[in-house]
Amino acid sequence: MEEKDLKISIGHLYPHLLNLYGDMGNILTLKKRCEWRGIEVEYSEINISDPIKDCNLYFIGGGQDRQQEDVAKELYKHKDFLTSQRDLGSVFLGICGGYQLFGHYYQPFDKEKLLGISLLDAYTVAGNNRFIGNVTVDIDFLEPNTLVGFENHSGLTYLCGDTKPLGLVNVGNGNNGKDKTEGARYKNVFGTYLHGSLLPKNPHFADYLIELALEKRYGQKIKLSPLDDSMELDTHRSLVGKAY
Ligand code: GLN
Repeated sequence: MEEKDLKISIGHLYPHLLNLYGDMGNILTLKKRCEWRGIEVEYSEINISDPIKDCNLYFIGGGQDRQQEDVAKELYKHKDFLTSQRDLGSVFLGICGGYQLFGHYYQPFDKEKLLGISLLDAYTVAGNNRFIGNVTVDIDFLEPNTLVGFENHSGLTYLCGDTKPLGLVNVGNGNNGKDKTEGARYKNVFGTYLHGSLLPKNPHFADYLIELALEKRYGQKIKLSPLDDSMELDTHRSLVGKAY
């Protein structure tokens, strides 16, 4: 199949509430990198009270505890459907607060536990410090073998079972500032603390997610044609290892 005959559907979960620190840039990147190749994108927002539809890729951004509370209640209603979507190979990308809700729960400091939808075998508890700053993550599944971004969270996330980290922090704190892990992956579910937004500065990861979403839709591996990523990768390399 030629790229101009391809299509992916993207479901954006609760953008009116979880869209902190420019996380919308991830959607713009996915859309643009498809558009530049002639791949059609069917994009839909899924807000409070909206039904959740079958999508090849779901995205959820970050937010403050207050917005997370509202989203957690709504997201939990769709736990079974989204779990079946995960098991059918749909791609999920959750950033920070959205990532935390992909786990079993997020326990804020002085409020009741927010139940997550357990797409990831992980849990999050509020920490005493706020982790704010640049992050570089060493990864082993893509080239370049780094991801760069910006973290701003007090939640400490711990991974269990078959849920593995995206990579190991070489600058920054990552999941909990202790075990050197950053982010999480189980099947095609990805979580990360990297705002920035993440994908514009990590085009290799953006294309990886698009290829997984195409594989979900068409049932076969599809290698994307290369784009001129010289500017994006120059930006990426300028941030690798940079704390400030
Ligand atoms: N409220 C969560 C925390 O502070 C998530 C913050 C965010 O999404 N940036 O850990």
